Amino acid sequence: MESAGKYDYIIVGGGTAGCVLANRLSRDAGIKVLLIEAGAKDDYLWIHIPVGYLYCINNPRTDWLYRTEADVGLNGRSLIYPRGKVLGGCSSINGMIYMRGQERDYNEWAQLSGDDSWRWDRVLPLFRKSEDHYKGSDEFHGAGGEWRVEKQRLSWEILDAFRDAAAETGIPKIDDFNRGHNEGSSYFDVNQKRGIRWNASKAFLKPAMKNGNLDVMTGSHVKRLRIEQRDTGPVCVGVEFTGGGSEWYAEATSETILAAGAVGSPHILQLSGIGPAALLQQHQIPVVKDLAGVGENLQDHLQIRMAFKVKGVKTLNMMAGNWYGKMMIGVQYAMFQSGPMSMAPSQLGVFAKSDASQSSANLEYHVQPLSLEKFGDPLHPFPAFTASVCNLRPTSRGHIRLGSNDGALAPKITLNYLSTEADRKVAADSLKLTRKIVSAPALRKYQPDECKPGVEYQSEEELYKAAGEIGTTIFHPVGTCKMGRADDAQAVVDSQLRVRGVGGLRVVDASVMPTITSGNTNSPTLMIAEKAAELIRAARRGTP
Ligand SMILES: Cc1cc2nc3c(=O)[nH]c(=O)nc-3n(C[C@H](O)[C@H](O)[C@H](O)COP(=O)(O)OP(=O)(O)OC[C@H]3O[C@@H](n4cnc5c(N)ncnc54)[C@H](O)[C@@H]3O)c2cc1C
Repeated sequence: MESAGKYDYIIVGGGTAGCVLANRLSRDAGIKVLLIEAGAKDDYLWIHIPVGYLYCINNPRTDWLYRTEADVGLNGRSLIYPRGKVLGGCSSINGMIYMRGQERDYNEWAQLSGDDSWRWDRVLPLFRKSEDHYKGSDEFHGAGGEWRVEKQRLSWEILDAFRDAAAETGIPKIDDFNRGHNEGSSYFDVNQKRGIRWNASKAFLKPAMKNGNLDVMTGSHVKRLRIEQRDTGPVCVGVEFTGGGSEWYAEATSETILAAGAVGSPHILQLSGIGPAALLQQHQIPVVKDLAGVGENLQDHLQIRMAFKVKGVKTLNMMAGNWYGKMMIGVQYAMFQSGPMSMAPSQLGVFAKSDASQSSANLEYHVQPLSLEKFGDPLHPFPAFTASVCNLRPTSRGHIRLGSNDGALAPKITLNYLSTEADRKVAADSLKLTRKIVSAPALRKYQPDECKPGVEYQSEEELYKAAGEIGTTIFHPVGTCKMGRADDAQAVVDSQLRVRGVGGLRVVDASVMPTITSGNTNSPTLMIAEKAAELIRAARRGTP
């Protein structure tokens, strides 16, 4: 095994959280930081053109190409489960939607972790710190930071009509989803700069690489952590990885920080002997620390994609369905960085309650002026729109578990979608609400005709079945190394994101969320990394 050197901090994973950490930790001159990323540099053209996410998903250049285990709740289907494998991680292949979630999410984290510093009013300054919002700075938004937030450069008649229809059913029009309460409808704000994707790598990593004290190794797959047994207990002292056909070891003198995402981080912990003892023993891995929660508590948003044929209105299906239309779309993007190629996958958002008893919006709609059978398939050859709806606070829980002790092999990803009665009820209610919006007067003139799942699904049982048939991930796995109080046996990290019972080791990424946020998960992950960097720098200075 060759030595890759000695560093104060080693960050495993150059995704959303890893890029923020690399930036903030390398600000201290005299500190050496190594970031290790399994994927390549983010110099692939389709990462940067917003519509290119279609070509990044399911592409070995940028995606881990995971698949989920067959899921009973999805009527036995297994899903592709995209995760970015490239600098920027998922922020290089995601939908670019800028969304913080709701005030209640962070107040819940504070309660579950026993640490008030996770409350909304305490994390809001962290969201603002890195933000560069197109409207400038105010009580809720920041300006001049690295994380650019822009308005989308488009509008669609059919989406405006959906918004009007939602208003007619009592869902207000609002102009900002990111003030702690997101109930209402609006076009999503996006992480783009002048119509080009703005990922965590461009925002945080590239500027930090000029500091001279940050090394970035791409094409380097971390297989396990190196742990030493000391009088105080196990301590992480570095990482072992493969790259360029060789095996490497890098030493961390201060801390190793896992930022390999909600699939990667629990997988690396388990491979290193940190996880549920029975699972580790089953795969002949010596137990370093029996931590029952590693890989458990997997939560994700299941999107139920309803599609409606329409008449007398433009949708992307027809525009992109012929060579002339495609050419005009290309010309518009080349000249103005606007139009469909600058489109985030979803444009219009609606947050609503599935029933009046909900304390805040528990549904999120992603409405798109297009339709397809499933990701990767061509657009339908008729005009249509998709109203995808997801339950923001599912109670179903899945897990990430080793399938083998060979670190090169993918772990088993089990979602257990729709495995609780409560989730099946919300799914059925959300289908009914979508039908109510679509039948409102504002959409009537387009004669919407439900083609997915189809009007034949009417009873509760039929609606559950429909949700299982057309439901798919909206790519938000979290929770697999959750933070929690000392008396929570399932907690993997404490409220400072230190791995329980193992020194020199933190987890800082989407996996530490104890509960999923009520919205898209990228910017909450970025905020987690911002907070962690402050904690790590404070620990170094010896200030609590
Ligand atoms: C297709 C898609 C669309 C999405 N759309 C949105 C959206 O519009 N808005 C939003 O807010 N959120 C969205 N998300 C979710 C959001 O992007 C993620 O929640 C967020 O990026 C997670 O950040 P992370 O740092 O936890 O993990 P990641 O960004 O996944 O970073 C983990 C990094 O670690 C690396 N890694 C993993 N294992 C190893 C290993 N063993 N060795 C070395 N490196 C390793 C990975 O290659 C990756 O670069 C989307 C996600 C996807 C996949």
